[in-house]
Amino acid sequence: MCSKEAKLPPHVLIFPLPAQGHMNSMLQLAQLLCLSDFHVTFIVSEFNHSRLLKHTGTRSTFARYPGFQFQTIPDGLPDDHPRSGRRATDIIPSVLKISGPYFEKMMVEKDLFASAGRRPVTCIIADGWLSFAADFAEENGIPLIYFRTASACGFWAYYCTIQVIEANEIPFRENEMDELVRSIPGMEGFLRYRDLPSICRVNDAKDPSLWHRITLTRQIVRAKAVIMNTFEDLEQPILSNILKHMPRLYTIGPGTAHLKSRLGENNVGASVPSVSIWAEDQSCINWLNAQKPNSVIYVSFGSLTAVTREQLLEFWHGLVNSQQRFLWVMRPDFIIGKDMDESIPPELEKITKENGYMVEWAPQEEVLNHPAVGGFLTHSGWNSTLESIVAGVPMICWPYFADQQVNSRFVSEVWKIGLDIKDSCERVVIENAVRELMEARKDEFLERASHLAKMARMAVSEGGSSCRNFNDLVEYIESFVV
Ligand code: UDP
Repeated sequence: MCSKEAKLPPHVLIFPLPAQGHMNSMLQLAQLLCLSDFHVTFIVSEFNHSRLLKHTGTRSTFARYPGFQFQTIPDGLPDDHPRSGRRATDIIPSVLKISGPYFEKMMVEKDLFASAGRRPVTCIIADGWLSFAADFAEENGIPLIYFRTASACGFWAYYCTIQVIEANEIPFRENEMDELVRSIPGMEGFLRYRDLPSICRVNDAKDPSLWHRITLTRQIVRAKAVIMNTFEDLEQPILSNILKHMPRLYTIGPGTAHLKSRLGENNVGASVPSVSIWAEDQSCINWLNAQKPNSVIYVSFGSLTAVTREQLLEFWHGLVNSQQRFLWVMRPDFIIGKDMDESIPPELEKITKENGYMVEWAPQEEVLNHPAVGGFLTHSGWNSTLESIVAGVPMICWPYFADQQVNSRFVSEVWKIGLDIKDSCERVVIENAVRELMEARKDEFLERASHLAKMARMAVSEGGSSCRNFNDLVEYIESFVV
């Protein structure tokens, strides 16, 4: 190696799954590494890249990090593919089939992204679902670290699904949904069949898509280390179990709070820039400014969830009947079949104008940290859950798919900072849950949520577990530079 290269910082390639939640947490990591003076090449799908440039100040955000660069890759889906709702499940197979071979070719052709002033990639940090990253890393002798963007509890449930099958607990019948799962260490006593990752809801234990996910999950041990967006005080018992299988595990979350803390220390300003692939509607902040403290329930189901018109109307009636004020994110692709155009009952429209506010996409972190927001009706995506924990906002959980079924059970039964209404969204269920969270048990939930928020902030402050773990991660990556 020439002496010039010896002085260059490590060069990390980061490759998330092309979905908003995965990109968010891995872009947070990218920025944290840039603040440690690393060079970062961030792989983003062409589809998401064009939307990022359209809707955010991405160029200016990342201009503050001279070592950062985006590289685009096709995700293999046609431009008009919705990439949401039930069809979000097309993303992983398409990326494995199309982006994987493209990635390998690009790495070779671009000489591992070496350029003047940038050494070839020293380490790959890939989304835990991307098995081809392990193939490439092994063939080329490049260290690989996997980033699982889900919760530790969600990951552990996926990891142990094989044991659940071996114990003949899958498939389970509709009338067994509330029985307890016996074969996941650390979750005995509270996890029901209903709370298993949604992939477990199959009629046959040999279901190929179930086994595909299990295989992808189990191959995580091929990496030299694993990163998770969580913190020790939140998920310690589960992390102890995971550590037995993956001894080099770095929990560095909550990513959003961690980044904020380090941006502040580096005098770059403590506000975390938007990386949304939708245009954020700031008008909702003006609306929130006019509301009383803790009086508004924020309703958002993330970037992928889609509902039928029937479900939409149940949510809507429930919210209106609860007589609470609400701010609702209604993505343009949130309703299956786009039948929103059909007439909405006039009483809903009228009360929504008086008591509610709707946007297509919100600046979520700003919303959750607004003093007017006292509750969050969420799909329990892991980013949303962590953002709510950091903001000290109690949740009503209506999980949609993947790890969300597990997260919501932890919110209600382990952390006790909200209610889990999974599998039902009838108007009376919504009305009762909103009243319980925002009125009857408001103080109790707010107190526990604010305690957990303090712990989250401590984890990312100097000396906190996530802060120390990130410093160790930086040292570990530096050790790859020979
Ligand atoms: N989000 C946002 N504005 C919205 C809705 C969601 O900025 O109106 C962000 C939210 O802050 C979170 C991400 O989108 O960081 C969604 O990720 P999550 O893991 O919660 O769910 P997913 O979209 O992957 O289902």
